Amino acid sequence: MSTEGKGYVIAIDGPVAAGKGTVAKRLAQDLHGFNLQTGATYRALALACKEHGVSFRDPENVLGVLSQITIFLDDTGVYLGGKDVTSEIKVSDISKGSSDVSVFPEVRKRMVALQQEIGQAHIRQGKIVIAEGRDIGTRVFPESPVKIFLTASAEIRAQRRLEQLSERGEQKDYQQVLAEVRERDRQDQERETDPLVTEPEKYGYTVVDSTLMTESETVKKIEQILKKANLYDQHKNTR
Ligand code: C5P
Repeated sequence: MSTEGKGYVIAIDGPVAAGKGTVAKRLAQDLHGFNLQTGATYRALALACKEHGVSFRDPENVLGVLSQITIFLDDTGVYLGGKDVTSEIKVSDISKGSSDVSVFPEVRKRMVALQQEIGQAHIRQGKIVIAEGRDIGTRVFPESPVKIFLTASAEIRAQRRLEQLSERGEQKDYQQVLAEVRERDRQDQERETDPLVTEPEKYGYTVVDSTLMTESETVKKIEQILKKANLYDQHKNTR
């Protein structure tokens, strides 16, 4: 498909801590595109629930909170009611909470609409949107010309998550982080609405397993996939 001069979406889905965020950020820099972190919308909702004293597992009250707040994402960060919450939403209890609130079908419906609205605003400007999440290629932007499923073993993902947490001053035990990664995987794959697919090839994804790859090797690998699909040099050179 020809995408010359037009904005479009590169979908990057995969399990927790597979490196989607880092890779999407680097691709967005290289391609002068917009990095749409869809997980941030669920995280912002979880933070709002925490602030309102509402349990992440109480659908009625979670939806009540959602109807009272505004969430916005742009190149500068994530905003909840106009307040920059980019750092606040990265802590562990919000990670777990975002996974909990993302299970509810009505929450997903509204978040998908918000994510599509933000992505489409950038597409209309002729931009590439590098969107990462769990259901980009299946629900949010199923028409994406390229869909990457980025994964790695649970053990290596737990190790990477542990390092990220430690950089932020959160000390945790490896076994605890591994158990949390597995629990979030389970929730993402078993939810009824738009689960994380377990057979990505069937949905048109190219699978990239980064277990034995460095960050740079993973980015290079994805760039090769984009080049093969004729989606890389075109934007790198024309922007
Ligand atoms: O990607 P991130 O870890 O920021 O996502 C936070 C949580 O939001 C995930 O654990 C997942 O349960 C949920 N999520 C989702 N669908 C997306 C993005 C994230 O269900 N498209």
